[in-house]
Amino acid sequence: MTVFRSLERRIAVVFVGLLVFVMVLMLLIVGRSSEVIIGAESQRQLAAGARNFSNLIERDRRQLELAASVLAGDFGFREAIATQDRATVLSVLRNHGSRIGARMMMILSLNGEVLFDTRRPAEASHTFLFQALLDRAKQEERSGDVVLMEDMRPYQIVIVPIMAPVRTAWVVMGFPVEDTWAEEFSRSSGLDVSVVSAAGGIRASSLPPALRQALTAVQWEALDEQPKQLTLAGYHYHAVSLALGSQARVLLMLSLERSEAVFRNLEHILFIIAACSIGLFVVGSFSLARRIAGPVNHLVRAAQRFEAGDYSPAATVSAPDEIGQLAASFEHMRAGIAAREQKISRLAYEDTLTGLPNRTRLTESLSALGPDDHAVIAVLDLDRFAPINDALGHRVGDSLLQLVGSRLLEIMPQGGMLARLWGDEFAFLIEKAEPETARQFAERLLEALRKPIDIDGQKLDVSGSIGMAFYPDDGCDMDVLLRRAELAMYAAKQRQCGCMFAAEVGEGPPPEQLSLIGEMRQALECNQFVLYYQPKLDLAANQVVGAEALLRWQHPERGLIPPGNFIPFAEKTGFIREITPRLLEDIAAQAASWRERGMQLVLSANLSARDLLNPGLVRLMRELLETYGLSPQALCLEITESALMEDPMLAQAHLAELAGIGLKLSIDDYGAGQASLAYLKSLPVHELKIDQSFINSLALSPKDAAIVRSTVALGHALGLSVVAEGIESQTDLDWLREVGCDIGQGYFIARPMPAADFSAWLTRRALI
Ligand code: C2E
Ligand code: MG
Ligand code: MG
Repeated sequence: MTVFRSLERRIAVVFVGLLVFVMVLMLLIVGRSSEVIIGAESQRQLAAGARNFSNLIERDRRQLELAASVLAGDFGFREAIATQDRATVLSVLRNHGSRIGARMMMILSLNGEVLFDTRRPAEASHTFLFQALLDRAKQEERSGDVVLMEDMRPYQIVIVPIMAPVRTAWVVMGFPVEDTWAEEFSRSSGLDVSVVSAAGGIRASSLPPALRQALTAVQWEALDEQPKQLTLAGYHYHAVSLALGSQARVLLMLSLERSEAVFRNLEHILFIIAACSIGLFVVGSFSLARRIAGPVNHLVRAAQRFEAGDYSPAATVSAPDEIGQLAASFEHMRAGIAAREQKISRLAYEDTLTGLPNRTRLTESLSALGPDDHAVIAVLDLDRFAPINDALGHRVGDSLLQLVGSRLLEIMPQGGMLARLWGDEFAFLIEKAEPETARQFAERLLEALRKPIDIDGQKLDVSGSIGMAFYPDDGCDMDVLLRRAELAMYAAKQRQCGCMFAAEVGEGPPPEQLSLIGEMRQALECNQFVLYYQPKLDLAANQVVGAEALLRWQHPERGLIPPGNFIPFAEKTGFIREITPRLLEDIAAQAASWRERGMQLVLSANLSARDLLNPGLVRLMRELLETYGLSPQALCLEITESALMEDPMLAQAHLAELAGIGLKLSIDDYGAGQASLAYLKSLPVHELKIDQSFINSLALSPKDAAIVRSTVALGHALGLSVVAEGIESQTDLDWLREVGCDIGQGYFIARPMPAADFSAWLTRRALI
């Protein structure tokens, strides 16, 4: 039921329902009680009326008897009777009768003959009609009753003897019983009275004519002495009949309407009181219910707003009761959640070091751009930040980033956004920017960076490279746009031209690669980078003497990703510098663990240019050797020619230091780049790895075979051991052994495998 869904209605309906129930019950009880009371009261009144009636008859009878006795005692009268003086007797009877109001006077002989009758003076004697009355008078000396005369009119009559001194005759005196008599009785008793004859017809009545008419329809037989209900012309009566004789009955009636009137009135008042109290209760309970449910509903709405992310304070509920306390707790909860949410969103959207918006915040703003908007995204990367960070420590590096951030903020155009993406990479989002204004802005940026930055009295020169991509011309997808701006920035860095547009650089790596890059950071945190090991075989001794650690990305969805798909970009972005130390530590741990199990293997790690130029590398290697208790010869570092060529002086200096520790150093992919022979002479390396492109084509290309043969000879001449990688056949292996190549590596010997499989492979090989 929908009515009961709302608390407010439920409270009100329950309260009002209860009251209505109580009131209806009360009215029913009152109604029932008044019926009982009315019944009992009617019985009582009718009984009292009957008694009154008997008393009245008795009183009238006494009066008549007295008057009759006086008459009977009159000597002259007795004389007149004795002498049969008809005129005198009738005259005395009339006089006496009119004095007491009797309208009928008779003298009876002792045997019941009517001798004189004032109503019929001339008539001769005839028999008295009411013998029974006369007989009673004979026994009791007097008698009286209401009787119907010959003319069917009721009379109240008395019979008394005339004593002279013995009984000589009877005097009969009578009053007519008429409407006035009935009305008088009605007035004094409060009851209606009617005299009903057996022959039908109302002889006297206090009832109004219409009801009198209705009464004639009531059967004579029904008028016994039992109390009964009568309905006359729609009026209800309690009635009782008094037997007066065989011919007539007196009917006493009490109008139920009249006796119920008081109770009806009371019920009416009670009904009004009940209706008013229900009305008041409805108003009261609704307002109480609203007082209870109102604040609750208010809190519900506030909770719904919280759910929708709106934490604005709810209007206060200032009730001092439990609801008020609930509202206060609710407000505390809201403030707590709002503060935490604010903190969380700050953590989620703010770069903690600089206080600037972070990458997430920037990409959200980018994705909010509509199809009609125009914007430029400018990515700025500091040049030479890594060496500063490494050389002067992270504290200085952090301060530098903070100062650069605030300097960049100063020149940010109104309405733009400056975010720190990560590391030393910042990005601007500027809406409604045209290429020309964007280029001017980039120049202002570079200019702003040109001023040296003062940290603890130390003046640092920083510069940056900027890449710009335009929305929507260079892409609508924010990842693509940001990547294209980054690619443009790398291009600007490489060309050292300060700023480049994405359109000048092109699409860059395929989208698959782009999205992989975005996940690299997470991969590092989740240990998705794993190392595979490929054996290095001493060709002369036919013995495994080492293994090269090769990186794989164990991607949760894409499976095993080869290094060629992500290392180049990790190198470009500088992210490789976060990966390599972890790998070096893994390799050192692996070497120590294998050595403990008696596998004296030299493990080789690949270094990229950025790693080699990292001044922290030497310190790291020292620490690793110490931590894992390794001799420096247990590890070999492979460096590509291109890494050497990027900053030959610095590379050479670092190599010298590494060699100084005693670590083995190897030139990887020799012959694929443009390494000068002159470097080979001066570099402190121990190994030369001939690029596999030469080995692959040994059988096919005599020129390549010649190059390999002479490179082996050259290496030996320089005191280096020579490694051939990419050996895929027995023929190549045999040929290489023949020409004196020291070490071989390739799928023919073994494919790179997880460290866990390596010892099993070694055991299997020993058994063959
Ligand atoms: P690389 O250092 O020259 O490693 C040799 C590559 O040749 C490996 O490829 C290896 O699996 C593959 N190879 C070995 N034997 C054969 C063979 O018989 N035939 C053919 N076709 N290939 C063979 P991988 O593992 O895909 O690595 C590719 C390159 O990625 C490596 O070349 C190296 O420059 C780089 N790399 C791998 N791991 C790392 C790392 O941990 N750090 C850095 N900076 N670079 C790494
Ligand atoms: Mg290598
Ligand atoms: Mg190689």
